[in-house]
Amino acid sequence: MERSDRVSETLAEKGLDALLVTNLVNVRWLTGYTGSNGLALVGPGDQRLFLTDFRYLTQAGEQLDAGWRREIAQEILQAATAFVGGDGAVVKLGFDDASMSVKEHGSLAAKVAEGVELVPAGGLIEGLRAVKDADEQAKIRAAAKLADEALSEVLARGLAGRTERDVALDLEVTMRKKGAESVSFPPIVASGTHSALPHAEPRDVEIPKNTLVTIDWGAQLDGYASDCTRTYATGPDLDPRDREVYEVVLEAQLESLAAVRAGAGGREVDAIARDVITAAGHGEHFGHGLGHGVGAEVHEGPRLSQRSEATLETGQVVTVEPGIYVPGAVGVRIEDLAIVTDDGAEVLTSLPKDLQVID
Ligand code: ZN
Ligand code: ZN
Repeated sequence: MERSDRVSETLAEKGLDALLVTNLVNVRWLTGYTGSNGLALVGPGDQRLFLTDFRYLTQAGEQLDAGWRREIAQEILQAATAFVGGDGAVVKLGFDDASMSVKEHGSLAAKVAEGVELVPAGGLIEGLRAVKDADEQAKIRAAAKLADEALSEVLARGLAGRTERDVALDLEVTMRKKGAESVSFPPIVASGTHSALPHAEPRDVEIPKNTLVTIDWGAQLDGYASDCTRTYATGPDLDPRDREVYEVVLEAQLESLAAVRAGAGGREVDAIARDVITAAGHGEHFGHGLGHGVGAEVHEGPRLSQRSEATLETGQVVTVEPGIYVPGAVGVRIEDLAIVTDDGAEVLTSLPKDLQVID
């Protein structure tokens, strides 16, 4: 079924007469349009309207299928109001309250016809986006493969003696050269005590020998992201404490990953990793959720965390990324990207997880 038909079917369930889609990632998912200005209106039956400005006339003609009525306007949000209501009947118009600015909402509210009620509907498209079809899964698989190959090339050039920033830049350039549209987020390369910061920024500091380096990176390819983390040793003479922390994170990662399957709870899978880490005395050093969905955006639903209410479904793509961060001492994170299946997880990351020495 067409994505817009699925959205249209969902409208009634949510008590909406129409949905205004303004978030461009959602517009792309819904229509295939990749421009930087455009919105979509989905109504009941086959009512589909797409609005953009003059610059994207040709592009919209090429990217949208015939089911979409296309209109050109200078102020697309204001123009959209002309297509909703107007005959006095109450129309419940859903809008994305998670991404629309207060200013945009104000101008929309001032413009809509009498009888049109603006209803917050953020998350409706995101909910549908969470389950990836075969085509989307193939794109994420390809992004993950490209990212793996790029890191392998970078590691062949060594880690110790290079700066974190140099390695991060090398990784970024290598991914782009291999065809990535962009990075899915700026790579994290964090060595020594700096690795204790979960979102460390790469520094102009040389990576020492015999320490741990955490590398978290991803490629954006064909509109889809990848996300992976590996932690490497830069020599065999590691502090035994660092090795021990690594082994705990690895055990937590393997056990929680083994629990990923359709029907498992996001909270339940998180708890498996958290229990392993807590039992090793590091409960307070694992301060983030176990994982998140990945798709058109690198962070999307479902969440795997202590507060997650998600139940995993076949076709969702999630990360499993436990970490231990001992302030001022050491940090380790190991992250795989996986497709949820009926009986387990298809892991998209091919790089080994036993501690590798890269000097
Ligand atoms: Zn990551
Ligand atoms: Zn992640």
